[in-house]
Amino acid sequence: MKKKGFAIAIDGPVGVGKSTTARFVAQKLKMAYIDTGAMYRSVALYQMENGLDMNDDKSLEKSLKDIDIVIKNVKGAQRIFLNNRDVTDLIRAQEVSEGASVVAANLRVREKLVSQQRQMAGAGRVVMDGRDIGSHVLPWAQVKIYLDAALETRAKRRMLDLQAKGHDAEFDKIRKETVIRDERDKNRKHNPLIKANDAIYLNNGFMTPEETADEIILLVREREA
Ligand code: C5P
Repeated sequence: MKKKGFAIAIDGPVGVGKSTTARFVAQKLKMAYIDTGAMYRSVALYQMENGLDMNDDKSLEKSLKDIDIVIKNVKGAQRIFLNNRDVTDLIRAQEVSEGASVVAANLRVREKLVSQQRQMAGAGRVVMDGRDIGSHVLPWAQVKIYLDAALETRAKRRMLDLQAKGHDAEFDKIRKETVIRDERDKNRKHNPLIKANDAIYLNNGFMTPEETADEIILLVREREA
């Protein structure tokens, strides 16, 4: 694939802090940020709200024709619109997280979203986070990072994050859900979560999102030098 623009791809498992880190990196480097997980979440929300089965490939493929996802920058913050409705907050619900990793296994869902992600990246300067960005969506990305941290650390981060947003969050339940989603993402047939061969492995278990972002920016500067 031809090299275009400048892209930083950030992949990694659940709860590793990809979105927060990616947002910091994008802000500091004045690049656009694209949260691809939000797109899979939107497909799951569509199935959920319409009483449709997440596991039913036929139903999912039919739904794709009626699903229009747009990511917009509103007052400096990324908002996600599903069929012209702002669903930014709705897609953070626990059932949607769970559903997203189910619908993400469907090849047609992935094809549609990946093609849109590549279009959005275009020839611009983007930070994109997800599971398959370095390995599949933007294999030409100049900087690829695979973020990782121990399961317990990631589950604890998610618990604190959910509690801060006023949700009930029990550690054991979150830990179990994290394992299930990671297993699904790593073992699916199409574009599973993997570290791209040329990605830099970064364990941020003892780092804050700001520190992680600063480390990535250092790596970007090295690449640019
Ligand atoms: O990153 P986030 O937790 O929002 O992603 C939700 C789900 O969407 C993931 O568990 C994964 O199944 C799916 N996803 C994916 N490929 C991406 C981004 C997210 O399969 N590039």
